Amino acid sequence: MTETFLPVAEPDLGELEERYVMEAVRSGWVSSMGPFIERFEKSFASYCGVKHAIALSNGTVAIHIALVARGIGPGDEVIVPDLTFVATAAAVKHAGATPVLVDVRESDWNLDPELVARAITPKTKAIIAVHLFGHPADMDALRTIAEHHGIFLVEDAAESHGARLSGRRAGALGDASTFSFYGNKLLTTGEGGALLTDDDAYAAHVRYLKDHAMRSEKRYWHAEVGFNYRMTNIQAALGCAQLERLDSMIAKKQQILDWYRAELADVDVRLNPKIGAAEPVCWLVALTLPVGTSRAHRDGVLAKMKALGVDGRPFFYPMSAMPPYEGARLVQGDAHVSTSLSERGICLPSSNKLLREDVVRVARALRSALA
Ligand SMILES: *Cc1c(COP(=O)(O)O)cnc(C)c1O
Repeated sequence: MTETFLPVAEPDLGELEERYVMEAVRSGWVSSMGPFIERFEKSFASYCGVKHAIALSNGTVAIHIALVARGIGPGDEVIVPDLTFVATAAAVKHAGATPVLVDVRESDWNLDPELVARAITPKTKAIIAVHLFGHPADMDALRTIAEHHGIFLVEDAAESHGARLSGRRAGALGDASTFSFYGNKLLTTGEGGALLTDDDAYAAHVRYLKDHAMRSEKRYWHAEVGFNYRMTNIQAALGCAQLERLDSMIAKKQQILDWYRAELADVDVRLNPKIGAAEPVCWLVALTLPVGTSRAHRDGVLAKMKALGVDGRPFFYPMSAMPPYEGARLVQGDAHVSTSLSERGICLPSSNKLLREDVVRVARALRSALA
């Protein structure tokens, strides 16, 4: 019997997605005007409990416009976690600002607020907190710091659709938040993103900048340089369908994570964290091998799993290890947790199509790779 390859991620698309996308195509509204855009923005804002959602072309430009619309640029410092997907740091560079890398903590793999407090200088204009793999960052502590210094607090919620902290959704925990709807995210529009905020004036400014900085009162007059960061009606149609199914997709992923917890209970690994008042979602099933595991050993484990038809993904590299960011200021404590997690971390197959027997197979492959 040939066993199928089990990939880390697959989009979860069904009949509803097909129906809405067909409706968009048949309506002729295939570009960035059309009813699905507003419907998606309104429903996603309401899902997250935030006043405004602005649909954008992807999650990276969402971070970029979040900074630019706030007037952040050259000479300004923006704090980002050292362990994240590169887009968080790249967007700071796109804005012409200086990323300041702050180490994460072992407990939830997110920004360490004590180190954030130490990283602040008179030039610090924003903190971008990432909810890595679906676990909310310590937003209460970060908010206290941000308010004390009058700094803009942004959530990069690209990996945490539907997560909660003390009952409030990810996306509603900062001054502004950004989402990605890339194909491997919890909710996909193919490519896509959004910026959410409660601030009316700021939301209006983002809307204006994302559409070539054009005012409806004076069309084709551009008082400043804007962007084309619009989402299409077809993408929004996909998003509307996905949003109706989001809670059930989140529940399915949680089920898969629970199966992994049961299957790997006796293996010396730590699966997705859950600490304090956080109600994480599982974007990807993620685990760390014991402290002290080398990158080479972890890579060997991934290679052995692949030979058994099981996909696995290493954690991200720390930003500070990569050429564009190695000169950036890095604030860490005694240990460099981002490096350690990066060397020990593995993401396992997390597709919603997985059956319990697939999870059993992955667990068996991991066990044999670790032996
Ligand atoms: C996916 C992701 C992004 C970027 O999203 P794109 O839509 O691919 O541009 C940004 N930040 C984090 C943490 C992500 O995981």
